[in-house]
Amino acid sequence: MIENLIKYINKVNIDGTEYININNNVVLKNDISKYSSSKEPSFKLEIDGLKVKRYDKVTYECPKCHIESTIGAGRFLTKKSEYCYKCKENDPEKRKNIVSISKSHIRNIKRSLL
Ligand SMILES: [Zn+2]
Repeated sequence: MIENLIKYINKVNIDGTEYININNNVVLKNDISKYSSSKEPSFKLEIDGLKVKRYDKVTYECPKCHIESTIGAGRFLTKKSEYCYKCKENDPEKRKNIVSISKSHIRNIKRSLL
């Protein structure tokens, strides 16, 4: 998931300096902290060999609507969807659910009328 998403990073802002992602120089590092009790993989980003801190800003292009979004690296790494939040809002799966809910609602109303 996050492995696919790093391809859409356009630039990273580290301490006010912008680093453009050309030729995929953004690398995803999976470093399991020795001090962490959870042993959960914690991903870290690197650009041109520089560590991207959690509060550094990542600008990525949504693969669906091609709108650029800038979010903190920490949030970027925990993203659940490739798409930006606007596309998530317009997710056809979500819409389908809403439609089927209202259909069953109508069915219930009809049944109560019989
Ligand atoms: Zn989008």
